[in-house]
Amino acid sequence: MGEFDIIARYFARQSGRGDVLLGVGDDAAVLDTHAGRKLVVAMDTVVEGVHFPVETDAADIGYRALAVNLSDLAAMGAEPAWMTLSLSLSRANEQWLDGFASGLFELADEYNVALVGGDTVRGPLVITVQIAGWVESDAWLTRSGAKPGDLLFVSGIPGEAAAGLAVIQRRILGGEPAAFLTHRFLRPRPRIELGRQLRTVATAAMDVSDGLLTDLKKLCAASGVGAQLNVDLLPESAAMRELFEADDGLQYALAGGDDYELLFTLPADRAAAVVSSLQLQQRVTQIGVITADTDVVCLRNGQPFRIKRAGYDHFAAGQ
Ligand code: ADP
Ligand code: MG
Repeated sequence: MGEFDIIARYFARQSGRGDVLLGVGDDAAVLDTHAGRKLVVAMDTVVEGVHFPVETDAADIGYRALAVNLSDLAAMGAEPAWMTLSLSLSRANEQWLDGFASGLFELADEYNVALVGGDTVRGPLVITVQIAGWVESDAWLTRSGAKPGDLLFVSGIPGEAAAGLAVIQRRILGGEPAAFLTHRFLRPRPRIELGRQLRTVATAAMDVSDGLLTDLKKLCAASGVGAQLNVDLLPESAAMRELFEADDGLQYALAGGDDYELLFTLPADRAAAVVSSLQLQQRVTQIGVITADTDVVCLRNGQPFRIKRAGYDHFAAGQ
């Protein structure tokens, strides 16, 4: 199979979107943008052995490569529309490509995302997806709008994905809970619907990819504020409780990464009403409060609490 066969067979798929005027097959795609909307663009790369273990199933790799990108659009409150795909492969394995495309398009179809172009090269297994979508008018979410006194929320259960990665890497045999956590790592659910609803009400938002505490620090730095994160408020995972010590679970929740949950802030006087009006596919939990000083502190039983290890940074010493 040559490069052109791969593209024709796996990636030149007709989409149902009327705004794709020219898709895969020409030198570039032509897309119809709409007056009054704002285009929102993001890109994420996943590298074998860095972002997923070497033996990961191809369908999970395809799903996850798009999911991590959709998560960025969720954090902006955007509706996804188009993607491009750069695929670096060591060899053209049909079974692998079948699996990869099925996982990728399973999630793409769910959110009506059209693949409109890309690049296919030989090299180590590296997948880059660029995602584009839009927000109506001038309302999008940023990291920079959190105000002192705002309440801090997180969606889902932070830590489960990192626990799932540990299950894979340490080959923990744990039946149903192990399978559940592994799935949470391999198939993150982008919180698009939540981001869309938060678009006009949250003061700040970001998606949690590198670890809750590390990412909270980024949100606080962007907003020029600090935060108190109350560790006792973190949602508990039944699956994690079955397989891990409480302290390890806490470590995963605060520093694990790969959650792809939304971290967001709401004005205190409106938070309860907003939360009760949300149509939710996962829980959201208040885990802290934004402060005027610029420190980000964790509290456990009202006392300062330090974690052992910080979140993920590709270029930090020791990673
Ligand atoms: P060129 O060499 O002229 O840039 P390519 O051979 O790289 O063209 O690509 C041909 C067409 O196939 C283009 O429309 C390109 O966007 C598309 N394409 C290539 N690889 C992929 C891919 N992995 N996924 C989707 N579209 C792709
Ligand atoms: Mg060309």
